[in-house]
Amino acid sequence: EEIANPAGLPTDQLAYVESMVESNVRTQRPIFFRGKLDLGTALEQMLADEPSQVIDSVTASKLRGRGGAGFSTGLKWRLCRDAWGESKTIICNADEAEPGTFKDRVLLTRSPKQVFFGMVAAAYGIGASTGILYLRAEYYYLKDYLEAQLQQMRDQGMLGCNIGGKAGFDFDIRIQMAAGAYICGEETALIESCEGKRGTPRLKPPYPIQKGYLGQPTSVNNVETFACVSHILAEGAAWFRSFGTAESSGTRLLSVAGDCSKPGIYEVEWGTSVNQVLRMAGAYGAMAVQISGPSGDCVSVEKDGERLLGYEDLSCNGAFTIFNKQRDLLWIVREHMQFFVDESCGICVPCRAGNVDLLHKMDRLIAGRGCQQDLDEAVQWGAVVRNTSRCGLGATSPKPILTTLSRFPEAYQVRLAKPSGPLLPSFDLDAA
Ligand code: NAD
Ligand code: SF4
Repeated sequence: EEIANPAGLPTDQLAYVESMVESNVRTQRPIFFRGKLDLGTALEQMLADEPSQVIDSVTASKLRGRGGAGFSTGLKWRLCRDAWGESKTIICNADEAEPGTFKDRVLLTRSPKQVFFGMVAAAYGIGASTGILYLRAEYYYLKDYLEAQLQQMRDQGMLGCNIGGKAGFDFDIRIQMAAGAYICGEETALIESCEGKRGTPRLKPPYPIQKGYLGQPTSVNNVETFACVSHILAEGAAWFRSFGTAESSGTRLLSVAGDCSKPGIYEVEWGTSVNQVLRMAGAYGAMAVQISGPSGDCVSVEKDGERLLGYEDLSCNGAFTIFNKQRDLLWIVREHMQFFVDESCGICVPCRAGNVDLLHKMDRLIAGRGCQQDLDEAVQWGAVVRNTSRCGLGATSPKPILTTLSRFPEAYQVRLAKPSGPLLPSFDLDAA
């Protein structure tokens, strides 16, 4: 899709946008980056169907949420459609803040209308009249550009009243700048922030599809999820399912960074192995890959290289950060724990206090003052934090320690003050 130069976009900014796309996008068998998508025709086709048929198509495509959790998009939309409410809202979560992810930025830069069209489709299927793009604070430089893209869509009758000539189909999208906090990417904190409050996660249930923005049913979906919907409606559910694996249909945009010669955005089919991505990225001598950023798994290239990206095996929110053998793994873990300590909203004790304790354990280990008991307690304490925290941040924050302890026990053992004991007994990470 061509990058339009909307009125008012400074040429140096456009040049920056173009260079970023050119230098970053590398494709394998692409969905997103394969030329122009005729959104006008896609809109006509969509409006010829009943709203529930649109949701049926998305369900049949087996599209799963690209934010990371992988919840069925069709099911979420169906639940939101069926929920009682005076008004319904569609929110695009563009608060991309997981360390190591930058794919939404490229998608919003290169193909914003694909994203907005996905929101229009959600509004039609669900029966929503309000749309919000919650844009990461650090992407403020994109705001004017995106506003201009939205205006073009209004001028083309793809947003506003009677969209596509369909009487009564009214929907518009406003851009809300995010608060500059990682926790505001958590959907209920995001909703609080949209309502003008401090971004603190709510208890779930009720889920946003029941009680979301202003207490009304709300569907919150990722930028990439909406872009996928545009392609599904244009090309069909079966076409989309022809990409990927049985349980993970379509492609995945990967933000590849770290110790490799070709970092950038890669579009790969689900089912691609870790080693295949490493080869594409020119990463030789890699020791570990942080899949999904700090909130995901740190895998060993030696032990896990042939594992496949997909919900059946290694689920991934898009971050793919490579570390070579020269890196100090414990220091990386320590920095990730510091990140969670800084970004915790602090409302629940296990996350607020537990992450600090885990960070202190890492500091002791790095200083050569750690002992076996620190490692045992890290596993136990990590399980408590994961299982008793209110939101996804606490549910994943001990993962940097737990996954590296599981995959690289020797890296910890050699740093103990008395490294004479037996290697850590293996433990069941899922149980932890
Ligand atoms: P979650 O499993 O609680 O929910 C996933 C989605 O499904 C939500 O929209 C939720 O409302 C919906 N849902 C789940 N169960 C439901 C039900 N029974 N009824 C109706 N709706 C239901 O996960 P989460 O905490 O929202 O997200 C965690 C993910 O976010 C992790 O995979 C993590 O990797 C990812 N993440 C991504 C980023 C990023 O920048 N992209 C940043 C941090 C975390
Ligand atoms: Fe806040 Fe952490 Fe509790 Fe989430 S788990 S609500 S970030 S204190």
